Amino acid sequence: MKQSVAKARPLPSISLDDVGGIQKEMKEEILQTLSTIKNREEANELGIHPPQGILLYGPPGTGKTLLAQAIAKELNASFFSTSGSAFNELFVGVGASRVRSLFDNARKQTPAVIFIDEVDALAGKRKPHGGEESEKTLTELLVQLDGGHSNEGILFVAATNRRDMLDEAFLRPGRIDFSFNVQLPDTNGRKEIIDIHTKNRLLAPDVLGSLGTLAETTSGFSGADIHSLFETASRKAIMNGQNIITKADIDFALDRTILGNSNHPLQDD
Ligand code: ATP
Repeated sequence: MKQSVAKARPLPSISLDDVGGIQKEMKEEILQTLSTIKNREEANELGIHPPQGILLYGPPGTGKTLLAQAIAKELNASFFSTSGSAFNELFVGVGASRVRSLFDNARKQTPAVIFIDEVDALAGKRKPHGGEESEKTLTELLVQLDGGHSNEGILFVAATNRRDMLDEAFLRPGRIDFSFNVQLPDTNGRKEIIDIHTKNRLLAPDVLGSLGTLAETTSGFSGADIHSLFETASRKAIMNGQNIITKADIDFALDRTILGNSNHPLQDD
């Protein structure tokens, strides 16, 4: 049977500086954690065991995937990215064999980061009458994470919006050593993300002068919402034949983003 397994992607060009609104302490802890991987021998001498797995959890669109990419870049590692749902199969054994292939492929290209988004679809709590297939797949994941020396040079990064759904065995230290809560950004965080997403866009002076206010008025917005806001404003500007984003474009995009339909056709309805 033909199987689709994540292949290494080109090294992400995302760095930690491209991820805004992340608490300073959390960024520092991530960097510290990665330094134990980069300086494995020194760490071992100090009795520090570099982590095997990291979990990023929090609401949708807060930058967990971006963070995983930045982690791979920081480690100069090959990036194997897939989603938990890619392992859901009707046929017994197929999901487990995909998990094995994923780790085998990564072991051939170390240093490597294996990133599994929506990991709850793969490592959800086992149910008393759960399916045989999903149980086998999860068991295989646990076996692979317990790979010991064969996992040297591999960092497993998982992301979820539903940490509460994850199986305790999966979360055990030695499998997942660090969990980071990636929250919705506060006002300062939103300003950082706004700065990131306006870096390469032309803004009218009144827009440029009111980015701080925009950060204040976008309470509840995720990084993905902010990205979508500026994409919509840019498209609106282009549609109006402008090469610069005006306040009217931002207001239009704000309405769209708040209504949650920023992908709809750009008409003033
Ligand atoms: P999900 O839980 O839905 O998978 P996620 O947390 O993985 O979402 P991303 O896929 O990383 O979120 O974010 C989607 C896009 O939103 C990013 O490519 C980026 O453009 C923007 N974005 C999200 N969070 C941030 C952030 N913290 N800083 C800068 N940009 C962000």
